[in-house]
Amino acid sequence: MTNDWKGAAGRDLMSLGGRLADLVRGEGSHVWDDEGTRYLDFLGGIAVNSLGHAHPAFVDAVTRQAGVLSHVSNYFASPQQLELAARLKRLAGTGDEGRVFLANSGTEANETALKLARLHGGKTGATRILCLEGAFHGRSMGALSLTPKAAYQDPFGPLLPGIATVPRTIDGLEAAFAEGDVAAIFIEPIQGEAGVVELPDGFLARARELTSHHGSLLILDEVQTGSGRTGEWFAFQREGVVPDAVTFAKGVAGGFPLGGLITFGAASELFYPGTHNSTFGGNPLASAVGNAVLGHIEEAHLLDNVTARGAQLRDGVANMPLVTGTRGAGLLVGITLAAPVASQVAAEALSRGLIVNAPTADVIRVAPAYTIGDPEVAEFLKLFGEALAAVAENEKNEIPA
Ligand SMILES: *Cc1c(COP(=O)(O)O)cnc(C)c1O
Repeated sequence: MTNDWKGAAGRDLMSLGGRLADLVRGEGSHVWDDEGTRYLDFLGGIAVNSLGHAHPAFVDAVTRQAGVLSHVSNYFASPQQLELAARLKRLAGTGDEGRVFLANSGTEANETALKLARLHGGKTGATRILCLEGAFHGRSMGALSLTPKAAYQDPFGPLLPGIATVPRTIDGLEAAFAEGDVAAIFIEPIQGEAGVVELPDGFLARARELTSHHGSLLILDEVQTGSGRTGEWFAFQREGVVPDAVTFAKGVAGGFPLGGLITFGAASELFYPGTHNSTFGGNPLASAVGNAVLGHIEEAHLLDNVTARGAQLRDGVANMPLVTGTRGAGLLVGITLAAPVASQVAAEALSRGLIVNAPTADVIRVAPAYTIGDPEVAEFLKLFGEALAAVAENEKNEIPA
């Protein structure tokens, strides 16, 4: 990568910190920088590139639909949009009553869900909305208000009123509902940005019982865990829980901007014409890509691969230096380390041609394409093992203070 590029990026792009390489090309699970260096991409654009890079199904859908019809106003529906809505309802298992709203990102999906919560509260009189400790729901003012992290929130107050943070324990959940007045709770079935943190056993089921009992909405943020990432279409399907609404985005169109909200049952009747919309959301081009990506995942039985490769990765890293355990499901894997050296591990990996990330000081996250096979897994295990060994060696040589 040339310094010119990096200098221009720092000057021209807002709030860009710590960029490491200018990537110019991708194919399958590999990307190349502007100097021709090849990297194994096991971050997948942060759980976005579900079919990897430049997959024929993706390229074909973009080029074909762009040549037919890219965008129409939302005074009109399109066959692509209707097909995608029907597909999402089927995959989520909403039955006939389900409805779908299409947007362009995870944040917008959660903003839509927040407005759903307000509409519901308007009917029931409940004013509080709950989010969980460690949650990440996005960075617009509404979604940020549901993202209780000081570094993200503090420069931007005042935030939305009426939002309370609940500890990730069943006791904490019960206490929050005991206070009453809950319009909705937002939950990520696995908290990706917090470091691939799983909820305690039975947490989602208890949240379902409490929301049903109190007449509150159970809203699941599956922006990261949905679209097949965990080996099910949606992570809630692993728990046998049916939410009132679920948001999705990242992997759904494999790198084309698309997100949205799926509602179940009575929650499908809350929005009415005039209450919400998006100019770009669900246009024929984005919808065609969503159909192609989800369709390919289905036809190629990639969810089975997600489950099998996830297990292979977890087994493969289990006995590596510094590794204390693994978390997550399918191909959303958090690798916990014995010391707060995750950013060093990510840097050592990058210098060996492997892209992973460090969502927290002692966790490495990998979220590769659903299409990975034995060669990609073997390459990952080799490079990741070398990166860990290098950091472990540095740690050993450090003289304790
Ligand atoms: C990434 C993410 C978001 C935000 O999605 P954007 O597409 O970046 O707006 C929201 N919630 C979760 C769980 C996410 O992982």
